[in-house]
Amino acid sequence: MIIMKFGGTSVQDEEAIGRVISIVRSRLPEKPLVVVSALARVTRLLCAIADEAGHQNEDKVRELLSQLRERHFSLASNLLSASPKLLEECNRDIEALISGVENFVGGVCLIGELSPRSEARIISTGELLSSTMISYAFNASGITCHWIDARKMVTTDDNYLNARPDLQVTEANVKRMVGLESRGTDLILTQGFVASTQKGATSVLGFEGSDYSAAIFGMALNAERVEIWTDVDGIRTADPRVVQDTGKIDVISYEEAAEMAAMGARVLHPLTIEPARKRNIPIKVLNSRNPSCEGSLVVSGDEAPDGPKSVTFRDGILFIRLSSDKLEGVCRMLGKVFSTLSSRRIPVTLAKATESEVYLVVPEGWDGLEDALEEIGSWATVTVYRDKAFIAVVGRNITSFAGLGDKVIGVAGKVYLADVSANLMSESFVIDRDRLQVTLEALHGFIFKEVK
Ligand code: ASP
Ligand code: MG
Repeated sequence: MIIMKFGGTSVQDEEAIGRVISIVRSRLPEKPLVVVSALARVTRLLCAIADEAGHQNEDKVRELLSQLRERHFSLASNLLSASPKLLEECNRDIEALISGVENFVGGVCLIGELSPRSEARIISTGELLSSTMISYAFNASGITCHWIDARKMVTTDDNYLNARPDLQVTEANVKRMVGLESRGTDLILTQGFVASTQKGATSVLGFEGSDYSAAIFGMALNAERVEIWTDVDGIRTADPRVVQDTGKIDVISYEEAAEMAAMGARVLHPLTIEPARKRNIPIKVLNSRNPSCEGSLVVSGDEAPDGPKSVTFRDGILFIRLSSDKLEGVCRMLGKVFSTLSSRRIPVTLAKATESEVYLVVPEGWDGLEDALEEIGSWATVTVYRDKAFIAVVGRNITSFAGLGDKVIGVAGKVYLADVSANLMSESFVIDRDRLQVTLEALHGFIFKEVK
């Protein structure tokens, strides 16, 4: 059995879904379980609907809901034009899902309050819609496909918008449901991202969470591999939207891929690696626009070569320096800082500490950050450096590659913080934001072109 996950841009329109069907057809002997995201941009649209409803902007909600309707009904009629009976059934299912969310959103508009639980219920609709339509499209193309509601399989805590699955319960559910439903069908299709709490309320796994869903299904079914289908040729040596002449990474270890995600690469959802690593299931990152490209393989460490794999970055970060003259010691100081930050769920990209100082890299504009800094400011001196960016070079045994620091200082001019991670998996730098682009390009060129 294999898992095949298709992201939003890989299912965005009729053409893309046509490609998905032909890719899946080529894998039928391997018994795929197909996991899909919402159509591209639909989750964002649903978030906007939820937000406007919370603010009781009924006209705007109506306008956005009609965009949701139009997008899905027009795609269904394109996909199923040759099968009027299936189109009729599909339209009925789409209408049921959309009027369901419409009624629910109406309730949110009335009370003018959007809870995380209500928001999860609303934004889960994108995957339910896309998977329903794609399942009809498979059946119309002659591939028998059985649709399963992922909420019956993935069981989470009640942190509705960033829910964490109970892997044991989920594994049992997945085995049972897939075992029951896979008889007599060519493939099973389900949704990424959506899940439900133990009490049965809808929850979601956080933005971009469909990759994580795919890895969870892979773990539960002990799949031979998990395929993540996107629209670039595998994992790149840098973000191709920002850096020119990037190359494909052929093989990378689980640890390096996880480090890349933690250091800002937007390739795989950061939690995706863990379930796969647990059972040693290879992950392949492939391109649905270019399916013959081999893509990138993510495997256990001893199968991947050492050395730099990728240059990642985060733009728009704050570099924060906290110092206290009370000689509190590292433990107490870190304890106080992190309890303040974690109670407000502020993500920390990097932290470094000495006896009297703590350095932090956190994303700019996070709700609650100013509050947290004020609280810390009551016992420490807080200095915030704005307009900074963060660059990291990721690869196992990173220190064996000399000259990274010199290169960054040479191009960026000033380095506010340089750090090698304790697992020697990354070397990272905080620099001025206006030097980000040139530094990325120079560093990428230095590692992957000039030296090779
Ligand atoms: N549709 C969700 C999102 O846009 C999940 C995903 O695509 O991975 O975040
Ligand atoms: Mg994605």
